[in-house]
Amino acid sequence: VTRPPTLSGWGRLAVPGRELRSEDLPALAATASLTRGLGRSYGDSSLPAPGHDRVAASPLADRILAFDPESGLLRAEAGLSLAEMNRLLLPRGWFTPVTPGTQLVTLGGIVAADVHGKNHHVAGTFGRHVRSLVVRLAPRGDHPGSIVRCSRDELLDLFRATLGGMGLTGHVLEVEVQLEHVPSPWIWAESDRYPALEPLLSALRAASREWPMTVAWVDALASGRKRGRGIVHRGRWAEPREAPARPPAPARRVAVPFEAPSWLLNRPAVALANALLWRRHPARGRRGVATPESFFYPLDAVHYWNRLYGRRGFTQYQCVLPDPGAEEATLRFFDVLERATTRGPAPFLCVIKDCGGEGEGLLSFPRPGLSVALDLPADPGIQDVVDALNETVIAAGGRIYLAKDAFTRPEHFRSLELRLPEFERIRRRYDPEGYLASAQSVRLGLTPPGGPHFSEDP
Ligand SMILES: Cc1cc2nc3c(=O)[nH]c(=O)nc-3n(C[C@H](O)[C@H](O)[C@H](O)COP(=O)(O)OP(=O)(O)OC[C@H]3O[C@@H](n4cnc5c(N)ncnc54)[C@H](O)[C@@H]3O)c2cc1C
Repeated sequence: VTRPPTLSGWGRLAVPGRELRSEDLPALAATASLTRGLGRSYGDSSLPAPGHDRVAASPLADRILAFDPESGLLRAEAGLSLAEMNRLLLPRGWFTPVTPGTQLVTLGGIVAADVHGKNHHVAGTFGRHVRSLVVRLAPRGDHPGSIVRCSRDELLDLFRATLGGMGLTGHVLEVEVQLEHVPSPWIWAESDRYPALEPLLSALRAASREWPMTVAWVDALASGRKRGRGIVHRGRWAEPREAPARPPAPARRVAVPFEAPSWLLNRPAVALANALLWRRHPARGRRGVATPESFFYPLDAVHYWNRLYGRRGFTQYQCVLPDPGAEEATLRFFDVLERATTRGPAPFLCVIKDCGGEGEGLLSFPRPGLSVALDLPADPGIQDVVDALNETVIAAGGRIYLAKDAFTRPEHFRSLELRLPEFERIRRRYDPEGYLASAQSVRLGLTPPGGPHFSEDP
């Protein structure tokens, strides 16, 4: 029996679909209602809408079109991966101004999700550093979509809606971005552990007042007095006198060779691993130079680690709880999380980050406050857990991150995303027939299930 081809995001929840790949992204994009990069978004944002089983995939369109070694201005095709940028440009003293927690992403995916990193509180999202984009718009009638340039000076509405617009405003073909000059290709990293959530959050906030890169890992399976214990990491680019003379060697990688049985990652095993991680961290803290790979991309050390979740797959739930009052809202969020996950899906990985000011992207995720990201296996009951968390976030006035989402209901999304009407107005201006769509846009009610046309009035 031949099974129809399927596509999935990083959380491995599959839908019927296949990728079309070519070096000629402009031509490819003219034939598809969605473009994807390396499929590192966790949920269904890079998957085709039902009935549209083909997605343009950008990774073969990865040429660097221009780079000025004096100013660090880079112009490249949307399929260029961050791993390739780092390999070529970090030894020359240039690094992406904002990096997500994996380098296996493309420039197009970075722009469409308007990603944030450990330095959000000082550098904002990636979009802040983008100078211009070249976008293939949706077709109109029999005319293929035109190719336009947008920036802060031209088609500003399209520019803002495309930053964080999850591919729904057009196919990004080229990205022009200002890179950051770094004093050495090494990181000075420090970390300390904290016994519970309240001191951890205070330490994270204090670290962000002084350090450009901060993040906290939390043991979300510890309960009682240990609830929310974790490790706060802080870092900055090392000065040449602190760093080894040579650039770091590329990290060795191992791979998870096949899909693990779904029972392998279970609550007692992960609780034990979390406890060991916390206890093994020296109580007096750690300080020293680290490679950018180990500091920014620890999970990339294991290729296909998502296979550990087995066939059931998983989701990452990420929300931001806004200031003022983000600390109290985070404590309430953990109350709800503990109640909602006592039985059923358990939060295996939890990361908290504090966010700085809101960016220009109309649907960009971060806003001032605390962001909580949780990996949850897609076990029975996952929908109830996501519903309960979303209701808590709505009550706190926060929002969720579309690059991670796979389960949010349309009515919750409308309450979480108050900027949606403006985004939808601009989307209609550039795609009046509602041609561009994804599995996520259908699930969230932005595209009706019957086909890629707009749903009700925004
Ligand atoms: C381990 C891990 C850690 C992560 N850490 C972070 C983090 O710290 N911060 C953060 O912000 N994100 C993080 N992410 C999420 C990731 O950065 C985003 O999901 C990113 O969009 C993935 O890029 P991609 O090239 O794989 O895009 P895909 O997953 O393939 O696509 C993502 C979205 O972008 C759209 N898209 C992709 N290419 C184009 C294009 N050329 N034109 C138009 N639309 C396009 C797709 O349609 C889809 O909506 C992490 C993901 C993983 C797996």
